[in-house]
Amino acid sequence: MYENLTGIEHKSAIVDVTDQCNLRCKHCFYFREEHESKQMEAEEFLEGLKVLQERHNIISMGWSGGEPLFRPDVVAKGVKLFQLNQIFTNGTNPIPRLRRAVTFISMDGTKEIHNEVRGKGTYEKVMENLKITKAKPIIFLATFHRNNEHCLEDMVQQFSEIGAPVFGMFAMIFSPLKQYKKIEGYQHSVLQKNKLDLTWDERDQLINRLFELKESYPRFLFNEKVVLEMMLSKNSESATSKCNMSERTLTLDLNLNRKLPCVLGSGIDCTKCGCPFPYEQEARRRGLKEKEMGLANPEERMKKML
Ligand code: SF4
Ligand code: SF4
Repeated sequence: MYENLTGIEHKSAIVDVTDQCNLRCKHCFYFREEHESKQMEAEEFLEGLKVLQERHNIISMGWSGGEPLFRPDVVAKGVKLFQLNQIFTNGTNPIPRLRRAVTFISMDGTKEIHNEVRGKGTYEKVMENLKITKAKPIIFLATFHRNNEHCLEDMVQQFSEIGAPVFGMFAMIFSPLKQYKKIEGYQHSVLQKNKLDLTWDERDQLINRLFELKESYPRFLFNEKVVLEMMLSKNSESATSKCNMSERTLTLDLNLNRKLPCVLGSGIDCTKCGCPFPYEQEARRRGLKEKEMGLANPEERMKKML
């Protein structure tokens, strides 16, 4: 288990609950790299999280994987240890209502495209589960790349019509690795770089389309304009070069050891990061007021939703 007895405060953490998943999505950041860690017994895992919560004063925990809802009992017990929780799921297993938790379901396209990216029938399964779940709030998390960027507008329009318990959609951009190698059991590893990674021009065009959509869907689309602005190629490097994700967030693998520099894996190409975190930070550094950024503090944003 991660040993840092200096008691550094980490407001947030994210942990891999399991290395199991029923899907093998084209853009997956977990299966594209090899992992040495092995799944711990539930009791030991939860005990370790309790120690880390107390030691680092963790407020918010993200439950990831693999598919965290492959271990629903562990997640259900684990959420009780934290004030706030984020469940990152593919939505194809029953979606439980959990204490103080925001559920993020990965949705990567309109029906046809989502099924191409994530596997046949996955879109329909999520929609079935949404009809019967008592979980709320639910947010759709979409990762854009070359295979799905064309359906951005259709996705936002269709998803915004679903209504409760879906509160909104958050758009991220596919983050590539610096180098790819063949991974046994994951056929997409060597294809990711050439097939999915957006060029800087394509990426800027996508961000500009998000700007426009924000006008029509100001509440449903969660991305903030000031953060999108920092993601543009002309600003991006100044944000990613100063990212301090590893200091703020305790990123943990299956054995509760640190994953560095972040949850996206050890080989990540930070220069093309598609996660909002470094860009929010840079917007703050440039003196953009919290008010202009909406609820920029992630913990505050979550509290508002619960
Ligand atoms: S559901 Fe998540 S963990 Fe599973 S293959 Fe897809 S991206 Fe990877
Ligand atoms: S991939 Fe993004 S969030 Fe992760 S460490 Fe690099 S810049 Fe920060």
